[in-house]
Amino acid sequence: MAERKQMVMTEKKIGELVSMLTLEEKAGLTSGKDNWFTKAVERLGVPQVRTSDGPHGLRTQAGKINSLEENASIPAVCFPAACATAASFDRDLLYRMGEALGRECQSTGVHVLLGPGVNIKRSPLCGRNFEYFSEDPYLAGELGAAFVKGVQSQGVGTSLKHFFANSQEHRRMDASSEMDERTMREIYLPAFETVVKQAQPWTVMASYNKIGGVYSTANRKYLTDLLRKEWGFEGVVTSDWGATHDRPAAVAAGCDLTMPAEDTDHLIVEAVRNGTLSEEALDACCIRLLKLAFRAAEQHRENIAFDYEGDHALAREIAGQSVVLLKNEDNILPLAEEADVAFIGPFAKEPRYQGGGSSHINSFKVVGALEAAEHRGVRAQYAAGCRPDGETDELLLAQAIEKAKQAKIAVVFAGLTDGMESEGVDRRHMRLPEGHNMLIEAVCAANPNTVVVLHNGSPVEMPWVDRPKAILECYLAGQAAGEAVTDVLYGDVNPSGHLPETFPKRLEDNPSYLYYFGEGGVVNYNEGLFVGYRYYESKKQEVLFPFGHGLSYTTFRCSDLQLNKKKLTEGEDLTAAVTVTNIGKRAGKAVVQVYVAPEKVEMIRPVRELKDFVKVKLAPGESKTVTFTLQKRAFAHWNPTVHQWRTESGKYTIQIGENAHDICLEAEVQMEAEPVPPAGGYHIGIPMGEFAKSPKGRRFLVENIIYMIKGMAAAGFIPKEMAAMLEQLPGGVNLAAIDMLAQRAGNAAGGTGGVQVLLGQPLGMLDGFLPQEKQEELHKLLAELNQ
Ligand code: BGC
Repeated sequence: MAERKQMVMTEKKIGELVSMLTLEEKAGLTSGKDNWFTKAVERLGVPQVRTSDGPHGLRTQAGKINSLEENASIPAVCFPAACATAASFDRDLLYRMGEALGRECQSTGVHVLLGPGVNIKRSPLCGRNFEYFSEDPYLAGELGAAFVKGVQSQGVGTSLKHFFANSQEHRRMDASSEMDERTMREIYLPAFETVVKQAQPWTVMASYNKIGGVYSTANRKYLTDLLRKEWGFEGVVTSDWGATHDRPAAVAAGCDLTMPAEDTDHLIVEAVRNGTLSEEALDACCIRLLKLAFRAAEQHRENIAFDYEGDHALAREIAGQSVVLLKNEDNILPLAEEADVAFIGPFAKEPRYQGGGSSHINSFKVVGALEAAEHRGVRAQYAAGCRPDGETDELLLAQAIEKAKQAKIAVVFAGLTDGMESEGVDRRHMRLPEGHNMLIEAVCAANPNTVVVLHNGSPVEMPWVDRPKAILECYLAGQAAGEAVTDVLYGDVNPSGHLPETFPKRLEDNPSYLYYFGEGGVVNYNEGLFVGYRYYESKKQEVLFPFGHGLSYTTFRCSDLQLNKKKLTEGEDLTAAVTVTNIGKRAGKAVVQVYVAPEKVEMIRPVRELKDFVKVKLAPGESKTVTFTLQKRAFAHWNPTVHQWRTESGKYTIQIGENAHDICLEAEVQMEAEPVPPAGGYHIGIPMGEFAKSPKGRRFLVENIIYMIKGMAAAGFIPKEMAAMLEQLPGGVNLAAIDMLAQRAGNAAGGTGGVQVLLGQPLGMLDGFLPQEKQEELHKLLAELNQ
């Protein structure tokens, strides 16, 4: 205890320590000791920090190596990957998974777990989609934050990765992601922003790619100005492994740590000596690194046991809660235990349960569906039906058809094979292996009662979608995949997963299809905001299964949507309450999804966006009322003119969706907000009507339009009497009066459109008639409104 107390470091002590470090020691702190550890400074008692992959299990290796070979890391528990856990739509579940991983880290001496990954799924092709949560930044941010809170509740840090715009593996080490500011703020940044603001991860990992031509690790604009100054991030930024190309530039940008070990610390020393890198910048990195090192040591706990079986059971529970029932004709599912069933496909025996690359876990055990069925006393017939690599084999196919014919029910296990989804490489198409497609078609032809179970980390095309009676999307469900699947097949678990991404009918329908790989190392995110369902819904593009889709063995009904206000002023919260009832015969969990649909005013916006969700457990016949608080950001867009979150006045529809396409309830609220400046800002080229949308502009216009009226009368454009009448109005000039008179006179300035025509004229017209001091006032006002 006494020892622990000694280590508690105050800001002051950290500052003193930094001043005691030599320049070489400071430089040394900013890179790894080896693949996983940071450097200690023994003479000053600075401890080292141990990191480990992540995100869905421990890939903890002995210090010096970083081998992707499975056995090189300690046996651990492979939890479901993020593609699966995201389908749970369940923050508590992610928190509990984080807690378990935090405990595992404590038991193995790991201080920082390298995850979660919250990059946006721009295309189904990204080889690393299985490690990421969603195409939707709100869902990804909420689940990522819950996971981080869970891990960190155990005194273990996380590394939020890969910051940012790292949505492809093709040329991942050097491609430059190029997008407009609004797309960045509304799609690619918010998941990171949410996790940072809600959960303060101990570290953030800067990605391999460039953003706007500058490597992430050297990008001061994002690492310092945005992440730290704007969002308030307090932790350490580490490079992704091997992502630093210029050590001094990384330190100057605020990338504190370069991982893994590098023989380049001398470059930092030289840069400080020759004045190209300020020692203050280096000190700032060291302060953050020392805080991390002492925090890690202070919070390390001895004697925590690695609860293998307990965590395996949790992995099974999480996987079960994440299974998505895509269709279930004639309620073929759940199956009766005694049903005569054939399990077909290599994945029935050996499930595909994790992806390739740095997240690959050396699982201490793996349970397939066939084995899990046996455990529950079900005797399933088995046939492989194709080769393990997914290639067709005539003989195996014929055997499978035979088994399918003999059984009452056939369950085909299909998906993507190991080689098809991995870190470092993108898929080139969205198809299942040929052997799996043929097997599904053949089994469906042999047995009308066919169920398809899918194991894949990203959407696949399903040319056979109408053939089987039921489809379960199980994603990469971790080492307990087989148990989780049989729990759902036999009804112990009522499926409650919902798709965290759209399944398009064909790859070509995906909005990034034409530009995804980029050219010459430059990747333009041309589809902008319209990623995933934001595109499909706005474009009215038919999809295979929409974002948020997921069925249950029971039926839920949502009713009685109530908003606490009909009118809202920007910045005020809106509370929505909705009742959800289980009208079926089984207990189950409903996911209530709240979307906000803005009326088209000026800004181009997706038809609707997810702004909240909750998972509700309901017994048969039970009803619960759930409430949601929608805050300013739920209505806002990022305005590139003023570089701020802004809200437009107008109508907003609050929608309760079964998914992003099927809306079951809606209610409207009228928003009153400060006007958004016109694109390009305020200047004398904009129509007077635009200017009048600003309260200040409108006031100026009303007070000064008389100069223009008089000037026009003097030039003979409008009758002199009209100008005189206006001047004599007891209440002064106002736009309504101008409108009335202009219409009455039917003159050139007003015409039948009255003041509308006038307001359509450029502000420069008014400017031309103003006396000099009024002109100056106008220009000052324009400058003010543009700030
Ligand atoms: C991956 C990271 C991982 C790191 C350490 C990199 O190649 O992009 O996600 O944490 O290696 O293994």
